[in-house]
Amino acid sequence: MATKILVIEDEEKIARFVELELTHEGYEVRKSTDGREGLDLALTGAFDLVLLDIMLPGLNGLEVMRRLRRSSDVPVIMLTARDAVMDKVSGLDMGADDYVTKPFAIEELLARIRVTLRKHEKTESAPVHQILECGGVRLDSSAHSVEYDGHPIELTKKEFDLLELLLKNKNIVLSRDTIIERVWGYDYMGETNVVDVYVRYLRSKIDDAYGINLVQTVRGVGYVVKDERL
Ligand code: CA
Repeated sequence: MATKILVIEDEEKIARFVELELTHEGYEVRKSTDGREGLDLALTGAFDLVLLDIMLPGLNGLEVMRRLRRSSDVPVIMLTARDAVMDKVSGLDMGADDYVTKPFAIEELLARIRVTLRKHEKTESAPVHQILECGGVRLDSSAHSVEYDGHPIELTKKEFDLLELLLKNKNIVLSRDTIIERVWGYDYMGETNVVDVYVRYLRSKIDDAYGINLVQTVRGVGYVVKDERL
């Protein structure tokens, strides 16, 4: 199925030129020369990408952008005048994906369309994942990665699970029994000091390695992670 692009542009010459070129590239194109009509069309959800001029009759492009983002995440590339820096900034703030400055080379526009569509596809199909953060330590549960201030930290499976549990319960003290149950399972029959051993592993790889105080002991109770920078 052809990728559908909505071109909201009131300058007939530009709109016509873009339509010809995009059609030639295999896109299906619909034109609108009015901000209000363009917004209504964009909101139908029938388009894969919107090219949006800023100076438009009916409703200006920034207003179209603002209203569109209330209910749609369709990718938008703004067409802006060369010196309209504020338009670019406002447009991006309002959720536009990119902009192209007029007059533009068609190759540049085509490249930006491809990049924007690709980015959007990626975020659409990305699995739900959770980022847990505390004291500069960042754990990505789906990528199964941990880093401190951008430095990757290599953890074993159990170390990772333990850190994930602690981060999910940030600022909440967990008893050794709770940790064993959740990380090693109800039927764990090994040494009861396993938690202390793994906390030591974590500390040597994180706290000691980066001079921070993430995993803390609460005497007689258990362990907790806290953001000590605050
Ligand atoms: Ca215009």
